[in-house]
Amino acid sequence: LNPVLQTFRDSPFTQMTLRAMDLGAVNLGQGFPDHAPPAFVQEALRESFSGPQQYAPVAGLMTLREELAQDAEKRLGLKLNPATEVTITAGATEAVQGALQGILQQGDEVIVLEPTYDMYAPQVKLAGGIPVFVALRFEGGYQLDVDALKAAITEKTRVIILNTPHNPTGKVFTRAELQAIADLALVHDLYVISDEVYDRLTFEVEHLCIHTLEGMQERTITVGSAGKTFAVTGWRVGWAFASERLTKALRGVHQWVSFCAPSPLQHATMLALKTAQTFDYSGSVQQGYIQKRDFLSASLKDAGFPVYQPEGGYFVVADVSHLGLSEQAACDWMLTEVGVASIPMGVFYNQGGSPFAGLRFAFCKGQETLEQAAERLYAGC
Ligand code: GLN
Repeated sequence: LNPVLQTFRDSPFTQMTLRAMDLGAVNLGQGFPDHAPPAFVQEALRESFSGPQQYAPVAGLMTLREELAQDAEKRLGLKLNPATEVTITAGATEAVQGALQGILQQGDEVIVLEPTYDMYAPQVKLAGGIPVFVALRFEGGYQLDVDALKAAITEKTRVIILNTPHNPTGKVFTRAELQAIADLALVHDLYVISDEVYDRLTFEVEHLCIHTLEGMQERTITVGSAGKTFAVTGWRVGWAFASERLTKALRGVHQWVSFCAPSPLQHATMLALKTAQTFDYSGSVQQGYIQKRDFLSASLKDAGFPVYQPEGGYFVVADVSHLGLSEQAACDWMLTEVGVASIPMGVFYNQGGSPFAGLRFAFCKGQETLEQAAERLYAGC
């Protein structure tokens, strides 16, 4: 078997969900909404019964690509040709894999900023690449360490993977940070794969798409997701925006991996996007998530845990150092004694680990779930 597989572990997110179910714990571990998607999204799904039921084109339904291109121009200021620069994939996960496999040759290096969503490094390895980890500077709020990034670039570096808003920290990269990454990409002839699945979920700050910075059109692949956009993570509809040249590479992989994402769900995504453009959908999602974030943050603080205030995304990181336990032990205690499932920050590090014992809690949950978690935190901590 492929020896790379020996370096992989079972998804800690799925494992935690299984343990939470076994123990009847409130599941704030895996990041998926446990509330119903908006009514207009459910309606779009119903309407897809009478939509296409056979294969979509490899690139994805043209109607969805057009809708995405329109939305990207309006929301992100990104001008795209839907025929040649937009591709629909089976989830954002497949988009990132397709981008990596389309770009990398054996032994190429890919820079991954830590802490990191745990998917990127295994994907780099599957594509024959070597992940090189650069730590975000915790002091000052997980800032980009431009010198460390510069120092990590070698002759073999091909790609920098960016994730903004960021999983697990909720950091939203600033214009200055994105410009610094873009400057390095231009000087060293690198590509940027930018995972922006939480792009609508920013709170007090603006999301900026690195793709729109000068010179980056030719070297950015921007990845998005219907699952995160519409609270339907099971749909497995994602997309990649890239120049024609990069799109060709990505589609070359995509056609041999999934061929196409499910056409009824592509159709439903198109209908949902159409409706979302008729009102301030992002604004209403943000309002809901700010309340969830603030409620969970306050509950954690009341229970004695300082939190790192997220600017975007689904998650809040709490510092549980004062328990005097290892991170894993703190996570187990939180699960078995308090009855709340979380994810230890160690999962998001490949070297060095978290500078404090931290647990990541998902707040993309219904109010009832969050209240139940608050009660347990209050009673158990
Ligand atoms: N993105 C989700 C998280 O970070 C998990 C996705 C998954 O389990 N594949 O929790």
